[in-house]
Amino acid sequence: MADQDYYQILGVGRSAEVNEIKKAYRQLAMKYHPDKNPGDKEAEEKFKKIGEAYAVLSDPQKRRQYDQFGSAGMRGFGGFGGYGTPGGFDPFDIFREVFGGGFGDIFGMGTSGRRRSSARRGSDLQMRLKLTLEEIATGVNKKIKLKKLVHCNICSGSGLKPGTSKVACSVCRGAGEVAYRQGFFTVSRTCSHCQGEGQIIQHPCTKCNGDGRTKAETALDIDVPAGVSEGQYLTIQNAGNAGARGGANGDVIVVIEEIEHEHFERHGDDIVYHLPLSFPQAALGDEVEVPTLGGKAKISIAPGTQSEKILRMKGKGIPHLNSYGSGDQLVRVSVWTPTKVTEEEKKLLQDLAKHENMHPQKDDKSFFKKMKEAIL
Ligand SMILES: [Zn+2]
Ligand SMILES: [Zn+2]
Repeated sequence: MADQDYYQILGVGRSAEVNEIKKAYRQLAMKYHPDKNPGDKEAEEKFKKIGEAYAVLSDPQKRRQYDQFGSAGMRGFGGFGGYGTPGGFDPFDIFREVFGGGFGDIFGMGTSGRRRSSARRGSDLQMRLKLTLEEIATGVNKKIKLKKLVHCNICSGSGLKPGTSKVACSVCRGAGEVAYRQGFFTVSRTCSHCQGEGQIIQHPCTKCNGDGRTKAETALDIDVPAGVSEGQYLTIQNAGNAGARGGANGDVIVVIEEIEHEHFERHGDDIVYHLPLSFPQAALGDEVEVPTLGGKAKISIAPGTQSEKILRMKGKGIPHLNSYGSGDQLVRVSVWTPTKVTEEEKKLLQDLAKHENMHPQKDDKSFFKKMKEAIL
């Protein structure tokens, strides 16, 4: 599913608004619904795809992520627990959500059109993921332990005691709704005994008490692409809480947090490093070793380097998330002034001060101006 263009599947533009997306989905879903195309595998596949495309594009958070990360961000964990379609979408759930509960009526079929399934999608889980700049620079795979609800392994999520099945609700006799008179009218409402399902579990699974879920500690594999930044998030589909009574899984939302680095400050995809130099190094030039995100590297200091000069190490910054290439490492130089001097050193400095070249000439650019030039 990763290579598909959801916009293309629904036949809408990339800037389409939610209403337009919904309209496109409605038209296509009506056309390809399996009830309308019995036994047509191609229509069924198509129905699934448009449901998936709608689920992503109608959810602002998922859509943003799809636009931003494309296939990398939408990588689902299909087959988790074996429920739903790969990627965690139940096309029928989506259809019901858009068309309302009584979808059987749309095609004039279904004997109890108002029956609702008791299966519910599980809730999303949110977690924060702390990453070092080094991890962000290369991209990283993180294995995380996660406590969540999973489908019960005794009843496979159905909530039924093995060997038993659901029985018709005695209150509504399987209709899912009950009719009552109000004045001259007959009104019907959802049956509260079976919550509209028309069936009830008479013998609940003893492990999960009929909910279909149990708590478990699970392992979660998170592939973080290179170049992410603080506050961005990844959605790992289908990895959240299992749904009750066999419902689809929720998602896990992973919010990225950047750990402060001991040497570097991040400015977009550039990183800034502060390098103090001695006066002789700055005056005579030198070759110095500096840390980079990829290990140590040498940088040459030209003779006559002024304090606050910014040296650019091309491509040594953070890779761009949405395009090729990387930011740079900016090395901000400062000339270090000794705080303690011996008598001998004092004498040397005094002698040096007598020479004309030791006296400052006015620099025409301020530090902030230079910094701005270097970063922009
Ligand atoms: Zn169970
Ligand atoms: Zn009932």
